[in-house]
Amino acid sequence: MARDPKYDILFEPVKIGPKTLRNRFYQVPHCIGAGSEKPGFQAYHRGIKAEGGWAACCTEYCSISPESDDTMRVSARIWDEGDVQNLSAMCDRLHQFGALAGIELWYGGPHAPCMETRDTPRGPSQIASEFEANIYPRYMDKDDIKLVQQYYVDAALRAREAGFDIIYVYGAHSYLPLQFLSPWANKRTDEYGGSFENRARFWKESLEKVREAVGDDCAIASRFAVDTLYGSSGVELEKDGIRFVEYVDHLVDLWDLTVGDIAEWGQNAGPSRFFEENHEKPYTGRIKPGNHTDKPVVGVGRIVSPDTMVAIIQSGQFDIIGAARPSIADPFLPKKIEEGRLDDIRECIGCNQCISRWEIGGPPMVCTQNATAGEEYRRGWHPERFHKAANADKGVLVVGAGPAGMEAAMILGKREMSAVHLVEAGPEIGGNVNWVSTLGHSDGKENIFRGTARGLGDWKRVVNYRQIQLDKLKNVEVHTNSRLTAEAVREYGAEIVIVATGCHWATDGLNSVTHDTIPGVDTLTNDWQLTPEDVALGRKPVGHRVLILDNEAYFMGVTLAQKLAGEGHEVHLLTQRASVGQYMDYTLEAPMMHRELHRLHVDMHTDTHIERVDPGVVTAYNVWDPSHKERFEVDTVVLCSARVSDDELYRELKADQEALQANGVESLYLIGDAAAPRMIVDCIFDGHRLAREIDSPNPAVPLPFIRERRLWSTSTHKEFDVQLLAKSDMAPMA
Ligand code: ADP
Ligand code: SF4
Repeated sequence: MARDPKYDILFEPVKIGPKTLRNRFYQVPHCIGAGSEKPGFQAYHRGIKAEGGWAACCTEYCSISPESDDTMRVSARIWDEGDVQNLSAMCDRLHQFGALAGIELWYGGPHAPCMETRDTPRGPSQIASEFEANIYPRYMDKDDIKLVQQYYVDAALRAREAGFDIIYVYGAHSYLPLQFLSPWANKRTDEYGGSFENRARFWKESLEKVREAVGDDCAIASRFAVDTLYGSSGVELEKDGIRFVEYVDHLVDLWDLTVGDIAEWGQNAGPSRFFEENHEKPYTGRIKPGNHTDKPVVGVGRIVSPDTMVAIIQSGQFDIIGAARPSIADPFLPKKIEEGRLDDIRECIGCNQCISRWEIGGPPMVCTQNATAGEEYRRGWHPERFHKAANADKGVLVVGAGPAGMEAAMILGKREMSAVHLVEAGPEIGGNVNWVSTLGHSDGKENIFRGTARGLGDWKRVVNYRQIQLDKLKNVEVHTNSRLTAEAVREYGAEIVIVATGCHWATDGLNSVTHDTIPGVDTLTNDWQLTPEDVALGRKPVGHRVLILDNEAYFMGVTLAQKLAGEGHEVHLLTQRASVGQYMDYTLEAPMMHRELHRLHVDMHTDTHIERVDPGVVTAYNVWDPSHKERFEVDTVVLCSARVSDDELYRELKADQEALQANGVESLYLIGDAAAPRMIVDCIFDGHRLAREIDSPNPAVPLPFIRERRLWSTSTHKEFDVQLLAKSDMAPMA
């Protein structure tokens, strides 16, 4: 199908300095865990987006000096020729598919803890980072300023050598140039502090120097937070925000605009439960329409709708549609718009699982919607291309249509298996996502400071996308309202059986704190004790005084607290952890969720676990001092303690191999929560992985993947390594 002419505007080229973008789709810098040390991952992940139609793709933040080392998190680095060599692979891959390559030159100041290099970051004033624990910068005198500016220049020269087309002097998210600009971090009284011109001087000079070094060959970009959201103690849009854009506009070829800082960068990478599409518009949308710049502007806001994109361009908000998460969830988003295949777009759900893995420090990045994200190089998975399975003549039965079952059936369909049947006990496909996506609202006022409790509705996109794809696949049949017994499975007629029957919340208080059940808990016989499903599906009445146990430490406990407090219940929320919903620190949902729970007067008790439950009374204890007890008089207890796999069907089938063989079942697999309860992102991966490898020698065990690591006796940077070791006091290897 041809593209709808109303989207033509999205495919117009845009000139940025000496370079031209082939269209208006732009992958802004975002972390993936590849850096410069996994060049294959870096090249293939960015490259797949170039193949999918993006006009430019950028590195993640790229350190310009060992003084800016973010270990345990993974940044790119352009410190030496070895980094040039590795990052050039990304540039080559992007150029192969007609896209420009961008590099985000980064100096973190006190936000870079330098745990690998053990160097000392420099900063405008000696104030410890609000993001890292106990990291102080060394005060930058004028020699230090010149030195760091030279780091930018040297890095830019290396970047040009590597083949980059767009070079950023990155300040957004409160890194060094913005630390100079913002009174929040800059307390100086010399010509680099105080007045606006003085605070802007470091960034301006850095731009001038980088421009002078590479500006004829490369486009110069700057990423700038037009409002750091600290009120008058930081950069405010109406004051320094607009003013800074006007002040250095002549020095940039492209503005990449954001809001917020690094300590709360969920204001920028907004999770969907608190932020809608294009949520930064009140800030970033003021620059271009207000005629404050003559240069092209790119910005983000989890923009997935082509109609929103057109509106953004037509309103003059941006010239270029920036994306991090939408490009991860669907690297072929531009191509799909171009080819008129809008219903094939895999829309980002805004869960921020991708971000969570970077925050934790462990590559690779993952994506709930796109199981191939991060697997392009190491497993060779293409997000849109599938080859026919070697055993495509076999019939497949997938039991259970949650995330794992849906994904497995969809990918097996795409791999041209002769017949795939996806059979679901419930009235619709989707599994736990169907009820989880109804949560996340509170009292209907839904207004919290910086964000709105709009709920988890966007998570339903997990189901919607797969439903559409399954409907299109002629070789896949979906049957609902059909709960299969072991006998029915055996007699179904499929040679391959995949069990994806999910899990349930423990009814007896089984938990990871005591590795035991909780005395007095039995939700099956006590009406006043509820599991999360009981609450979400309204299976039992909830009394006025509620106690929720949050052992899960992700979204369930806090989400139920938010719901019940919003409905007017008096809520106590207990967790054994140091904070409630702790994994949300990594998904960037935590700050907004904490504000929401405080606004709703939820009574939170951390480091606390339940000792026993009696009618009307819960006895709890402090996990560090079990003698310290607390009593809660409550009407209802909700137990988010642990989840338990629903694997009985699999166990029963597996136990009778003879019966399987007699019925022609050749192989039996267990995936998703039914194998082990986990996050949606991992269930989808599990289903995808099995389907990708259904014709491997042993599909139950994942195939090995390419590991990008140094092999002993090879060198990462030969001359340097050899010289250093030769001069050292170490005895040579025998
Ligand atoms: P996962 O996250 O692993 O995909 P879910 O719990 O979301 O798991 O989904 C599992 C799905 O399997 C649910 O929709 C459930 O109704 C379905 N299911 C469980 N047992 C059977 C069965 N015996 N026959 C058919 N469907 C089943
Ligand atoms: Fe979007 Fe979630 Fe994928 Fe990140 S992990 S790109 S937020 S769907």
